[in-house]
Amino acid sequence: MSLLVVGSVALDSIETPFGKRREILGGSATYFSISASFFTGVRLVAVVGADFPKRYAQKLEERGVSLEGLELKKGGRTFRWKGRYEYDMNAAHTIFTKLNVFKNFSPRIPDEYRKTPYVFLANIDPDLQLAVLKKVLAPRLVACDSMNFWITNKSKALKKLLGKIDLFFLNDSEARLISGEVNLMKAAKYVFSLGPQRIIIKRGDSGALFMTRQGGCFSAPAHLMETIKDPTGAGDSFAGGFMGYLGRTNDRGDKAVRKAVIYGTVMASFCVQDFGPERLLTLKPADIKKRFDDYKKNTCL
Ligand code: AMP
Repeated sequence: MSLLVVGSVALDSIETPFGKRREILGGSATYFSISASFFTGVRLVAVVGADFPKRYAQKLEERGVSLEGLELKKGGRTFRWKGRYEYDMNAAHTIFTKLNVFKNFSPRIPDEYRKTPYVFLANIDPDLQLAVLKKVLAPRLVACDSMNFWITNKSKALKKLLGKIDLFFLNDSEARLISGEVNLMKAAKYVFSLGPQRIIIKRGDSGALFMTRQGGCFSAPAHLMETIKDPTGAGDSFAGGFMGYLGRTNDRGDKAVRKAVIYGTVMASFCVQDFGPERLLTLKPADIKKRFDDYKKNTCL
């Protein structure tokens, strides 16, 4: 198993112009794990409460995700998030965030997890991301994600974390929020000054931008589709495809990274086709291959 993830496992309630769902399986680590599981073995570290449906855990197990690091807190309630999207589905409006069992979570990392070479610190309290990072031994690549909630409420811890990681995934509005810059190039320069060697700026339906501190850049448009029902989890699915591909190939060269960006784009495109992780859960490897090939035909790769 080459990939370790810590992040939220959640019960999400979602409203988009195309429908509503209540308390479905969600969370940053959930989307990431399901997406990455198509490429490599994934070890998950998170916590859920006694109210977390067993059938949701089974969905992760069926994808081969290791749940030894998923703590079940008896008497606690699972993290809950409610969000709404307007027709411009690039921005989620958070209606509530209930941290519940994540409030006092002290992650326990099973011994065999500690040597995992690729680590993804998915969106969650940066203090927790730091605690997990402290417990892993000499990882080959550490990436992290965050969101406006933590940029606003835990800025100091997040900046400390950014000084310790290689790759930061963020979306364009988060880049502007953290830097105070409107121009994305200026925002990226500021983010590099905080530590990461490479960043990926996700721009919703405008695609993704991979940038290095040395000035390298690779831009991938989003895959064009007729049906987009729910963008929740697109960013985490992107990261899952990206990190999963790198974990599988164990190659961090420029060409592999570009291919990883395309796999990220492909996985995000499946995610948004249905509510929650539903489409990801019915995917077959052949669907991924076909979309990757179609994407290549439609772009210049
Ligand atoms: P994404 O759409 O990729 O940014 O991620 C959506 C997922 O993030 C949802 O499934 C939520 O449960 C989860 N989420 C929302 N807010 C937070 C938060 N403050 N910390 C951790 N996870 C969150």
